[in-house]
Amino acid sequence: MQRKCPSITSKGEPCRGYVHPGKEYCPAHDPSRADARRRAASVAGRSRSGGEIHEVKAKLRKLADDVLAKKVDKGTGSVVSQILGVLLKAIEVELRERETTLKEREFTEIKLPEFSQLQAEVAELREFLDQQSSNERSRNSWAR
Ligand SMILES: [Zn+2]
Repeated sequence: MQRKCPSITSKGEPCRGYVHPGKEYCPAHDPSRADARRRAASVAGRSRSGGEIHEVKAKLRKLADDVLAKKVDKGTGSVVSQILGVLLKAIEVELRERETTLKEREFTEIKLPEFSQLQAEVAELREFLDQQSSNERSRNSWAR
């Protein structure tokens, strides 16, 4: 007999998640998996790059002002803006990489258990259907 997950969903209904044998909760509510969920969420929330981009933007704006005010000559301005452009590109690459890492982590820590849960459910269903059809077959052979 399959255990029922004792959690209540956000809709206020009892959770109908699949509870693996020997477990108390479904994977979505398993307290031992809460850490993995929190870690993935906190990586998503971290955005150091956001601050860096802001900083580079501010520098570029100041540089433009300084060039216009002739505090910085055009040559220097051009070189500095190029460097800042490269820096922006590097931040962008870093952001993309982080996004990829996050997705991979989310996949292994959150999606994968859900996936194996789904596989277990499918296997159960297939077993049930096999049983049904073999019952049917034997019934049919008796009828003959
Ligand atoms: Zn649950």
